[in-house]
Amino acid sequence: MTYKDRLPCGSLRIPDTGRAVLLAGWVDALRDHGELVFIHLRDRSGIVQVIFSPEFADQTIMKSASTLRNEFCVAIRGRVQQRAAGTENPNLDTGSIEVMATDLTILSKSEALPFIISEKAMVAGAGDRVADAVSEDLRLQYRYLDLRRPTMQGHLLKRHRIIKVVRDFLDEQGFIEIETPMLTKSTPEGARDYLVPSRVHPGNFYALPQSPQLFKQLLMVSGYERYFQIVRCFRDEDLRPNRQPEFTQLDLEASFIDEGFIYDLMEALIVRMFAVAVVDLPRPFPRMAYDEAIDTMGSDRPDTRFGLRFVEATDIFRNTSYGIFKQILQRGGCIKGVNIKGQSEKLSKNVLQNEYAREIVPGFGAKGMTWMRVMEGGLESNIVQFFSEEEQQAILARFGAETGDVIVMIADASYDLVTSVLGQLRLHMADRLGLIPANVYSPLWVTDFPLFLATDEGITSSHHPFTAPDRTDFDPSDRDMLLSLRSRAYDVVVNGEELGGGSIRINDRDVQRKIFQALGLTDQEVEEKFGFFLRALDYGAPPHGGIALGMDRVVSMILGTSSIREVIAFPKNRSAFCPLTQAPSPVGREQLEELGLLGSGDAKNAAGTDQQRDLVDALAWVSRIGVGEQERPMIAGALKEAMRLAGRLSERQGDEEPLFCVAGDVNRMRKPGGARPSPYAESGEIFKNAPAVKGNYFKVAAVLE
Ligand code: ASP
Repeated sequence: MTYKDRLPCGSLRIPDTGRAVLLAGWVDALRDHGELVFIHLRDRSGIVQVIFSPEFADQTIMKSASTLRNEFCVAIRGRVQQRAAGTENPNLDTGSIEVMATDLTILSKSEALPFIISEKAMVAGAGDRVADAVSEDLRLQYRYLDLRRPTMQGHLLKRHRIIKVVRDFLDEQGFIEIETPMLTKSTPEGARDYLVPSRVHPGNFYALPQSPQLFKQLLMVSGYERYFQIVRCFRDEDLRPNRQPEFTQLDLEASFIDEGFIYDLMEALIVRMFAVAVVDLPRPFPRMAYDEAIDTMGSDRPDTRFGLRFVEATDIFRNTSYGIFKQILQRGGCIKGVNIKGQSEKLSKNVLQNEYAREIVPGFGAKGMTWMRVMEGGLESNIVQFFSEEEQQAILARFGAETGDVIVMIADASYDLVTSVLGQLRLHMADRLGLIPANVYSPLWVTDFPLFLATDEGITSSHHPFTAPDRTDFDPSDRDMLLSLRSRAYDVVVNGEELGGGSIRINDRDVQRKIFQALGLTDQEVEEKFGFFLRALDYGAPPHGGIALGMDRVVSMILGTSSIREVIAFPKNRSAFCPLTQAPSPVGREQLEELGLLGSGDAKNAAGTDQQRDLVDALAWVSRIGVGEQERPMIAGALKEAMRLAGRLSERQGDEEPLFCVAGDVNRMRKPGGARPSPYAESGEIFKNAPAVKGNYFKVAAVLE
């Protein structure tokens, strides 16, 4: 059979009526009526109904058709005919025609399926099949079947389209795609590295890239001016529902640019990407400084699809007699709140007090929550009596409160706690009360981040250490000054999700050194980790900057999928495990040994090692020697003898010296006469090209072949 004339199943329409066609694909669904067999034949392009009838197909074909089962892979010849009026299937694009089979080849049979793949009902009017509630791990275990589902094929096809849009657009803008290494040195992005042991450099490791950050900056030093890459990155981070240990970034970098260039470029690109799913994003994207985002929405990636902005209330209570507020303010704290407009019906006293104040808000990290419902006659709350008339009026005015509104407030000595808790409460309330509009996309640039964040040990970069500060005259030992610096970084956020971020970089070696110093790295650490990079900054590094977008997230958002795993062909599950391949999995001791990973300690406890197979292995391991197959019986025999003797020794009571010898007392040497001194050694010729000589020692290459 030749597939040259094969047509896509989903392409057939009424004008094809009468046409003889060759189709190939999978049996999506079937109904066997005895005399007639109906199948839905599916390939990547869609589904078409095929009918086996004795009118068109001979006995052998009819017999073969009766053996068909779901997901058999088949090729069919047949003739297209228009469906009889009333039998059309509006759920299929091909629903006005059907194919009367004249020939059938079963290319490959299928076992009974672990779950149903078909998504289209055969009976017209029955609508689409609702996907069975299949556990995600089962779907991932049989991912090759799960990926046959038209929905999944649609996701991967759209992903391809979106990525193609990216490539085409960046190509138009003069960016070139350049690959950077996967086996590399650690690039700090705030996560742990995945390490790859080197066999040829025992005890040394490559790191899988957390991002191509340093390489893309080096490409700018090399004069490529505009680089991009659709690149896999690896970060060993704590598990979160929408995180994968490996993920795909659109990474780009450009020289002789500023923030405005990145905003324009990325907005145009993001608008084009969303257009693949016919989503129209408004431009320009609004911008918000980090401080404002935290102060008014409690997050550095605020969801701007709805209001519920924070209202500052600290000053209202400066002279309050309400004990709790008074204490908090004495400790330099603050009070912020949100007016949830017109929701007093849904937010009853009971909900506010027993659910939010007692349960939900403490779960966010605050001790409690103050709430007030705005009623006809004034404020209603369990503590309103503690507030003076003046304070109550000030609250109403400050929050712009009207009857039917609900005001919630968080007070604490820590500003960070107040904003973080109120931020979480804002999202919780919006979700619960249905205040988040559907099908709305609200993009935002968050800018002016702090350059450093305080940690228990000192400070850390809020993006990565290559981000340019807003000023360069800082003293790297002045912690307060460092914490007051802003960075030239920007994040792009849509609907409260960070889709990506980047920055204008440092291109001055001394400033870069100061940043490392500020981060507490010693000169030696800097040299070991970043020496190669700092040297590159010595050679005319141009001003440059860039950004990276998390493509899995972007595609998932554009397609509106429930998780990023729906847009990745072979993802890991929520616990970073692959149910299909069972990765990660243990490896044999031999492999670990070869990689020099069986350092010290007890082999039984070495992670990933097989159980000790026998004593010879154990001995070989503790002695760090390789034991060949032919040596095993000899060593096993010697061990047995040693154990026998050890047993006898332990039985000995007296003070007599033991006189037992385990191994034969003959030296193993080359055959007599086989060893002789080299004349070149005597004349000093033998290592004359050695790179270094010290006394009687020669330094030679690590591997002698
Ligand atoms: N390398 C950064 C990241 O992966 C992005 C950038 O700064 O361009 O988040």
